[in-house]
Amino acid sequence: MSDLSSFNLVVIGAGIGGYPAAIRAAQLGASVLVVDRAETGGTCLNRGCIPTKALKATAEMLTRVNNLEEFGLSCSMKVTPDIKTIIQRKNRIVGELVKGVEFLFKSHGVTLKKASASFISKNRLQLTGADGKHEIVESGRFVISTGSSPADMPGIKTDGKFILNSDDILNIDTLPKRLIIIGAGVIGTEFAFIFKSMGVDIVMLEIMPRILPTEEEDVSALITRSLKKAGITLKTDTRVTHAEIQGQEVNLYLDNGEVVTGDRALLSVGRKINTDGLGLENIGIELGKKKEVVVDRFLSTSVNGIYACGDVTGGKMLAHIAYREGITAVSNLLEGRKQTINYDAIPSTIYSMPEAAGVGLTERSAKKKGFRIKIGRFAYRALGKAKAFSQTEGEVKVIVDSETDKVLGMHIVGAHATDIISQGAMAIQNGLTVQSMSDTVAAHPTYSEAVMEAAQDVFSMAIHQPKKSK
Ligand code: NAD
Repeated sequence: MSDLSSFNLVVIGAGIGGYPAAIRAAQLGASVLVVDRAETGGTCLNRGCIPTKALKATAEMLTRVNNLEEFGLSCSMKVTPDIKTIIQRKNRIVGELVKGVEFLFKSHGVTLKKASASFISKNRLQLTGADGKHEIVESGRFVISTGSSPADMPGIKTDGKFILNSDDILNIDTLPKRLIIIGAGVIGTEFAFIFKSMGVDIVMLEIMPRILPTEEEDVSALITRSLKKAGITLKTDTRVTHAEIQGQEVNLYLDNGEVVTGDRALLSVGRKINTDGLGLENIGIELGKKKEVVVDRFLSTSVNGIYACGDVTGGKMLAHIAYREGITAVSNLLEGRKQTINYDAIPSTIYSMPEAAGVGLTERSAKKKGFRIKIGRFAYRALGKAKAFSQTEGEVKVIVDSETDKVLGMHIVGAHATDIISQGAMAIQNGLTVQSMSDTVAAHPTYSEAVMEAAQDVFSMAIHQPKKSK
């Protein structure tokens, strides 16, 4: 055992929650240690947001290239995906970003240790390196940001070969001919579009009556339409009971007696929270039903001086929530502030093709909360820019409180939805009315015009819409 080292703050987990927390703490003058047993950057950088975007970029380009004639271009060569090179490109992008975060740690004087951390008391952590060597570190302040991992389901365990999870599928070296996706949530839907664009036959199996069951119903309906248009087979209200590998094939048995056969299956039915092995029982930290670390609205756990952020707290699993929670936790912990986060104004994004995004209340949740609402919509097909770029699928929907005219929610399906949703977030964060959204001039031609026109439509005043019958 080496000498005891001590820090003003120890962050456990160097993902999108932990690394900004560590950098912010160093900016505030603290001596900071970050501990992570795996790659710096966590799920988002290595196995989530960034690598899937790298694959999506290829998928989108392929889709475009297969439609060259429409743009007045001809090409006699067939463009085909080379998955090994696609994965290499993804690895290069990820590697550069990981190095970038490690450079930032160095630049801010943050110490990084590669080890598994476990609490032995409220102010001491045992670190175990890959070589099995132990070290004890001491601090009065901790941020737990250990994230989540892909979950198996009863009857189906991933094996990394035939039945893959969202980590495995990012490192395949051959494209399967037929991929069965179990779970049509965010991960399943994103991979369905990516691999369909690369020529893989896709069957999606979803237990609920609709895909993306937690999203606005119209979003789910529009993305369902796009999935079908892309030639993806979707079976909803379908429970998979078990799986069997036969030769080089995977058979999935459904509760209606049907058997679906593919070359590979992707299990994307949710993620489990990473609290095992952290020694939280040694310090009596309160855990919830999903083994999540329970935090108050200031991100403090039940133990004084220990805060938590991101997926490990059991909230919505979104990178930008983890990021915001990490820096908020550090600000509260080190500066004694009482900062909170307005979760109603945090957008969610789905990198389907076309993209989808939402912020605030859905139509159903607004009605359930007792709001009298007005709705405005604007279809992408009426946008000049969308026409010019042949990206006419989708719409913007804005939900407004009839009494105050304040924007309650915005939901978008369509090109650049994940970028223009920020306008809805800005409106909700600042309590803006739909009138101010309608009065704000969107440049022409842009996709943002759809937001302005949807706001105008709340008053039946959208310029690029036919007169509504009363
Ligand atoms: P999810 O909860 O979004 O979707 C899981 C889906 O599986 C649901 O539709 C659910 O009804 C279905 N399901 C559950 N059990 C099933 C069964 N036995 N048979 C068939 N279907 C079943 O989970 P996910 O897609 O695995 O994503 C995990 C988390 O990561 C989510 O919180 C998600 O929001 C987050 N994430 C976010 C992004 C993003 O922001 N773009 C991207 C990826 C993941």
